[in-house]
Amino acid sequence: MSQVRVRFAPSPTGFFHIGSARTALFNWLYARHTGGVFVLRIEDTDKERNSEQFLNVIYESLNWLGLNWDEGPKIGGAFGPYRQSERSAIYREYLEKLKAAGRTYEKDGATWFKLIGERSEVYDEHRKKTVTKVKVEPTVINDLIRGRVERIEDEDFVIVRSDGNPVFHFVNVVDDIAMQITHVIRGEDHLSNTSKHVELFKAFGAPLPQFAHIPLILKQNGPGKMSKRDQGALIEEYQKRGYLPAALVNFLCLLGWNPGDDREKMSIAEIIRLFDLPGVNQSNARFDDKKLAHMNMVYLLELPADQFVELARAYFQGHAAETLALQADAGYFREVMLLSQPKIKGLEELPAYTQYLFSDDYATDPKVKEKVMAKGDPKARLNELIAALPGFDFSSDAAIEEAIKALAAQQGLGFGDYQSVARLAVSGTNVGPSITSLFRVLGRERVRVRLERFRVSAGG
Ligand code: GLU
Repeated sequence: MSQVRVRFAPSPTGFFHIGSARTALFNWLYARHTGGVFVLRIEDTDKERNSEQFLNVIYESLNWLGLNWDEGPKIGGAFGPYRQSERSAIYREYLEKLKAAGRTYEKDGATWFKLIGERSEVYDEHRKKTVTKVKVEPTVINDLIRGRVERIEDEDFVIVRSDGNPVFHFVNVVDDIAMQITHVIRGEDHLSNTSKHVELFKAFGAPLPQFAHIPLILKQNGPGKMSKRDQGALIEEYQKRGYLPAALVNFLCLLGWNPGDDREKMSIAEIIRLFDLPGVNQSNARFDDKKLAHMNMVYLLELPADQFVELARAYFQGHAAETLALQADAGYFREVMLLSQPKIKGLEELPAYTQYLFSDDYATDPKVKEKVMAKGDPKARLNELIAALPGFDFSSDAAIEEAIKALAAQQGLGFGDYQSVARLAVSGTNVGPSITSLFRVLGRERVRVRLERFRVSAGG
């Protein structure tokens, strides 16, 4: 069998969204799975709707996701150019072939593609005009995912508009022929175009590629297809929010595909090994941002410490308002990040989660304070802690725990009697990392200052 050649063929008419990324990913996975070639082709013939800005977003998003192309813009290849706006000469040449084969005619200034069959004039109720119908056999599409699909293509269609611009169906098929594409993997919304495409392939005498129409992605809530305008649809949003591309790729591959069992977390090598077109579902997939957030958390948790700290720093750097964290000592920054790694769902939670660790100016939650101060004798506990603090061993969580327990035992109390008031004093709240970790990371001096300040504010 000849080498697999697939293509991702976006039109740069809007921001790069989940649906496009998934189509790109499935093509890329299929190429990597089969040892084939992944082509990037830019379908930018619609001059009014295309923009360089959107084009750059496509390049950046593909790079960020790790979906490298083997042929395409920037890197070239044997079948270039890879932007349709630069391929006019090729389209003219192919149009000549159709003309020579007697498969075109001119009408209303446009060039039409002529289907073969017996012609008859019929009144179209819907369009309220007489149209020429062509009696033809149904066009058959043997789709690798949808199975056998039949469609009747019984009306000639325009391939070059009166303004001289070739239409999508024409350039799409010409490029698939010229670029020797073996598998057309694209969204199911294109299935209705495929019969036109098949007729064009036949008219050129070109072999048909295999078609694989992948299921739609439904919006999170309610019926209908997810659109670029839906919440959470844009890839660059995840990039800005500090999501891990590997987590997003893992999430995307499960939109319409699974490895045949209920495995979800998979390495990219594993996904490449297992991915195949017959494994793609026919039924639509539903977008679920909680699942994506969870996937991201799982990936964050598994990151080696150095890598997590580096990513966290990059995240803070990308958000100009978060300067205190960046001004902190590097060793301290690292400790704070490692404390947070198992606790956060995404990097975007870091600034709020660590605010009190980088600044002495943090708020005290009044409800928590009321609750904590109403139970037992927290002021006495605070005084005991402050008095005992110089003798604490701060070298590890375990040592700090032992010191607090020893103090508690002297008073005939438990660890818990000290925990809430200590936490409230050093963080202003009752949630967060363990109190022992907090003490260790903050260090004796910061802890002392915070406990004393709180004692003053609590009235001694
Ligand atoms: N330019 C088309 C789109 O963005 C691609 C169609 C195809 O993959 O054949 O939907």
